[in-house]
Amino acid sequence: MAAIDVRVEASHYRRDGDVYVCGLCPHGCRIRPGEYGRCGSRRGDEDMLVAYSYGKVSSLCVDPVEKKPLYHWKPRSKCFSVGGIGCNMRCRHCQNYAISHLSSGKKRTTFERPEELVELCRRENQTVIAFTYNEPMIWHEYILDVMREGPELQCILVTNGLVNGEPLREMCRVANAMNVDVKGFTEEFYMDVCGAHLEDVLESLKTIHGEDVHLELTYLVIPGYNDSDDEIGGFCRWVRDELSPDVPVHFTRFHPDNKMMDVPWTPVETVLRCRSIGIGAGLRYVYVGNTLDEEAGSTYCPVCGKRVVDRLGYLVDASGLDGTSCIGCGTALNFVC
Ligand code: SF4
Ligand code: SF4
Repeated sequence: MAAIDVRVEASHYRRDGDVYVCGLCPHGCRIRPGEYGRCGSRRGDEDMLVAYSYGKVSSLCVDPVEKKPLYHWKPRSKCFSVGGIGCNMRCRHCQNYAISHLSSGKKRTTFERPEELVELCRRENQTVIAFTYNEPMIWHEYILDVMREGPELQCILVTNGLVNGEPLREMCRVANAMNVDVKGFTEEFYMDVCGAHLEDVLESLKTIHGEDVHLELTYLVIPGYNDSDDEIGGFCRWVRDELSPDVPVHFTRFHPDNKMMDVPWTPVETVLRCRSIGIGAGLRYVYVGNTLDEEAGSTYCPVCGKRVVDRLGYLVDASGLDGTSCIGCGTALNFVC
């Protein structure tokens, strides 16, 4: 681990007089020299806008891809998970606020050059690298450089989807799979709880779906905030109509955290209800998360009904798959194996 820092110029910005205008995400921050963007990942210097969080690593861990969660991408494989600092949303329930919400300079990090991070990944004998924990889209330059250093690696991004089209398409060129958090399905929820616009995220989902990237969605269900039948139904129909009924959707239980300690855990029945709404809307792969439920966590062939992947937590048995097809009836399923 290098103890030093480097100054890397940010991409996707322009100068407007003595102000830098960041074009990485829809916030479009106007940053003066000495200031940081809203996400903490960009700093204005006298001569350029700097990708301030470049190489600043806050977390490293090897874990199952199912934990991201990705259920349809290389089941049972492991990934080298890496977190940085900062985020362009301000979710009141954020579990990772220690790395995502403070001004970036205050969090203890190690500096890893792209080649050093790739070397760490190889040393762990991992061939998949996942950028997760905080928001990876604001680590744009660093992730592109890491993937350039390790072209044999496969790349997962776990993201909130708040990013502009051009940088997103650049990320799609290096990413193999993404899990996007859909926080809710009303503009009010996005603005009040997360500090972002729903429409911007939906736009990103359409872009990702149109690229060669495996996509899964996670919807954290918060009691009384984003769990009505109308909202869940609207979300599921949107996925079906604007993306595909084959996109896997994970309804996950909320637990009290950060600034939402007064909200209770999501009842298990609520996420099961959400799953039923999704299936009723025609989605083919709908799961529940943060609860052990073998039936609702497993994958069934949408044609013959055979259980093709059995899951209980991170215990996964994919013996019902023949490649990416159902072993029972031979139907090709939306899996990457
Ligand atoms: S990436 Fe960060 S600095 Fe750039 S517009 Fe978004 S929040 Fe602002
Ligand atoms: S998008 Fe994720 S990392 Fe960012 S504030 Fe929200 S929950 Fe935290």
